[in-house]
Amino acid sequence: MGNRTFAMIKPDATRNGHTGKILDRTIQAGFKVLGAKLIRMTKAQAEGFYAVHRERPFFEELTTFMSSGQTMVLALEKENAVAAWRETIGATNPAEADEGTIRKDFATSLGENAVHGADSDENANIEIGFWFTGSELISNQ
Ligand code: ATP
Ligand code: MG
Repeated sequence: MGNRTFAMIKPDATRNGHTGKILDRTIQAGFKVLGAKLIRMTKAQAEGFYAVHRERPFFEELTTFMSSGQTMVLALEKENAVAAWRETIGATNPAEADEGTIRKDFATSLGENAVHGADSDENANIEIGFWFTGSELISNQ
């Protein structure tokens, strides 16, 4: 299992003032932040990032939402990071998310669900590379 994952604090959460609380929960859950930056995705970047979903009915809604405001992109480190982060954020639909998860506490809806988490080690590396150069990933050792 890899020790890195890629996460985002999505525009609903940044807009609703939850960035600091989500970052605090992330660090308290044992993740080390290797990279962090505030971006505003273009529609084209959102379409590229979510290309795997391009045939899905929600693709237009998703890419419009993801380009609607500020997103914080994060490269995170922890043992078994991909699975650990998905456990920390909870189910895609906040109505189905477990108590104590980030989506349970901060997501608004299925479409505007506060945070993103990579779904495999391979995609985590691809997604980190989408937003960060190697020199932007910094260990605190
Ligand atoms: P993410 O990739 O954002 O961490 P996920 O892996 O839990 O979420 P995916 O299936 O990859 O879920 O869907 C990507 C994103 O698309 C979801 O987080 C959600 O914002 C949006 N989405 C998924 N299904 C729907 C839907 N039925 N209607 C609207 N938006 C949806
Ligand atoms: Mg996904």
